Amino acid sequence: MTTSEALEQLAELQRTMHAYNHASGVIYYDAVTGAPEGGAQGRGETLELLSGVSFSLFANPQVGELLSYLKAHGEEIPPQKRREAEILSREYDNISRIPKAEYAAFNRLINDAGAVWHKAKRENDFASFAPLLEQIVGTLIRFAGYYDKDCDPYDFCLDEYEKGLSKATLDRFFSALREKLVPLLRKVKAAPQIDDSFLHKTYPIAKQREFSDFIMELMGIDRNDCSIGETEHPFTTNFNKHDVRITTKYVENQVASSLYSVVHEGGHALYELHTGDELAGTCLATGTSMSIHESQSRLFENLIGRSEAFTDRLFERLVSLFPEQLAGVTARDFYRAVNRCEPSLIRTEADELTYSLHIMVRYDIEKQLFSGEIGVADLPRVWNEKMEEYLGITAPNDTAGVLQDSHWSGGSFGYFPSYAIGSAYAAQIMAAMKRELDVDGLVREGNLSPITGWLTERIYRYGKAKDPEELLLIATGEPFNPDYYTDYLTEKFTALYGLK
Ligand code: ZN
Repeated sequence: MTTSEALEQLAELQRTMHAYNHASGVIYYDAVTGAPEGGAQGRGETLELLSGVSFSLFANPQVGELLSYLKAHGEEIPPQKRREAEILSREYDNISRIPKAEYAAFNRLINDAGAVWHKAKRENDFASFAPLLEQIVGTLIRFAGYYDKDCDPYDFCLDEYEKGLSKATLDRFFSALREKLVPLLRKVKAAPQIDDSFLHKTYPIAKQREFSDFIMELMGIDRNDCSIGETEHPFTTNFNKHDVRITTKYVENQVASSLYSVVHEGGHALYELHTGDELAGTCLATGTSMSIHESQSRLFENLIGRSEAFTDRLFERLVSLFPEQLAGVTARDFYRAVNRCEPSLIRTEADELTYSLHIMVRYDIEKQLFSGEIGVADLPRVWNEKMEEYLGITAPNDTAGVLQDSHWSGGSFGYFPSYAIGSAYAAQIMAAMKRELDVDGLVREGNLSPITGWLTERIYRYGKAKDPEELLLIATGEPFNPDYYTDYLTEKFTALYGLK
C-alpha cells in the first residue's frame, strides 16, 4: 500500500460510515417526530440491519491494518488526516478489544434492562431492576479491564465520554461546588421566593411557535440549514453542517419550557452549523465532546439566555404576542421569574443553581459503585442521603428518586458529569469572551453575530480536530478552572435573591 492509497481508503471509509450514520440518524429523527406508532417494528429491523452492516464495515481487521499503516506513516501525511486516523483508531481500539460475543451479549443486556427499567420506574419497584444494574456495572468493569487491566474502571468510563477527564479532576470540581453552592442554596431557600405564576397561565401553542421563530432569528440560526421539529424530549441532531435539526416541546401552561429548550438546542445547533468546511465528510465534522457541546448549549441557555439583556429583548416580543397573559408584568419580573431557584426532585426540571447538585448526587454514587464501596442494593438509601445533603429534600419514592433517569439502564456510567462540567466550561468561556466583547451591549442591540463569530473562531470551527482540554485552553487561554462557574452563580443568585 502506498500513502496515497491509504489516504484514499481512509476517505472512502469515512464517506461510507457517514452515509450509514446519516441514514440511521434520519430514521431515528423521523421516529421521534412524526412516524406512526405502528412503524416501530419495521423500523427496528431496518436499524438493526444498518447498524450490523456498519459495525462489520468498521470493526474488521482490514480497517485495523489501514489505521496501523497510517499511524506508522504519520510523518508523511497532512495533520488533519493524521487526526482523522487518530480519532478512528480510538473508536476501533474500543470496539475491537471486546470479544464479539460479549459485545453482543452486552447489547442484549442493556436492551432488556431498558424495558425492565421502564416498568420498574412506572411501578416504583427498584428491586426488579437491581439484578440487571448489577450485571451492567460488572460488565463495564470487565470491559475496562480488556482495555487496560490496570486501569481504574470508573476513570475509563469518564474518559470514554470526555477524553482526559478523570476522578482527580472531578473530585476537585465537585468539592468546589459542594463548598460554595450548597451554602448558597441554603441562603436562597431562606429568602423570599420569586413569583413566577404568570409563566403558568395559558399560552396558546400556535403563538409559542411564532415565538420560537423569533428566537431562532435572534440567535442568527440560518433556517435554510436548520429546522425545528416537535418531540417529547427536545434534542439536536446533525447530518452535516447544512442539515441540523433541533426539536422542542410546547406546553400550554409552561411558556418558559419551550422557550429555553429552543435557546438550549439552538446553542448545540450553532456549534454544528459552524464546523470548518475543510472537515466536511470526515469524522472531525462535529462537536468534540459531550461536555464541550453542553457548554455551548448552556452558554446560550443560561449565560446569555437568562441574562437580563436577553430576557429584556425576549420580553418585548413576548408582550406583543401575549398581552393578556402578561398584563401588569414588567421586564424585571420576567427576568426574575425565569431565574427562579427551587430545589426539586427531578434533574431535568432543575434550575440553573441546583442543576449541578443533582449531578453531584449521581457522581458520588457512580464512583462508589465502581470502587465497590457501595452495592446496587444500597442505591435507594444513598440516593436519599445525598439528596438531603446537597439539596435539602428527599424523594417520596424511587420513581422520583434513583429510578428517574434512563442513563444507567443503557450502561451510560460516567456520562452525567459532562452535564455539570459543560456548565462550568460555559462560565469560563463566557468570562474569556467578556474580556474581549461587550456581550451584554451586543445582546441588548440584538446583534449576536460578533458572539457567534468569537465562538466560531475559538471553538466551533475546530470540530473534533482538538480534544476538549486543548480546546478550552485555545478558547480561554487557561486550563479548566471551576471558580468561574461558582463565582458566576454566587454573584448572580446573591443579587437575584438580595442575599447578604
Ligand atoms: Zn444539551
